[in-house]
Amino acid sequence: MSEGLPDPRVVGHQYRKTARIWAVEMTREFTVNTLEGVMTGQVGDYLCMGVQGEMWPIKRDIFRSTYERVPKVRVNTAEEDRALRAKVQAVVKDYAEKHPGEITLPCEKHHRLPCRECDQEKRKELKAVE
Ligand SMILES: [Zn+2]
Repeated sequence: MSEGLPDPRVVGHQYRKTARIWAVEMTREFTVNTLEGVMTGQVGDYLCMGVQGEMWPIKRDIFRSTYERVPKVRVNTAEEDRALRAKVQAVVKDYAEKHPGEITLPCEKHHRLPCRECDQEKRKELKAVE
C-alpha cells in the first residue's frame, strides 16, 4: 500500500499544527455529533471544538502529544485602553513641557502630527500679533 511512496521523514520537512482549537478534558463518557458522524469519548478523552464550532473527541494520549495549551491572554476593556492612553499622553505632554523643542506633540484638536490645519492657524495668529 505504501510501496513506491517517498518517506516524508527522509525527503520531507517537519510541520506542526498552528490552528487553535478549544478542548476540555472530560470526566464522563460522552457522545458527540461530529462531521464524520456520531462518536463517543471515554473518561479522560478530550472534547474539542474548532473555529467553526465543529466538535469531535480525541483520545487523551493523542491529544496531549498533539496539542499544547495556549496561555490565557487577557484583553483590555475599552475603558482600560482609554485610561492607559490618557496616562501615556499625560506623561508625554509633561515631558514635552519640561524639554521644550525636544519632541513635537500631535495637535490637541485633531490628534495629527504634523497638522497642516493647526499649523496654518498658528501662522495666522503670529501674523496677527506682528
Ligand atoms: Zn490639528
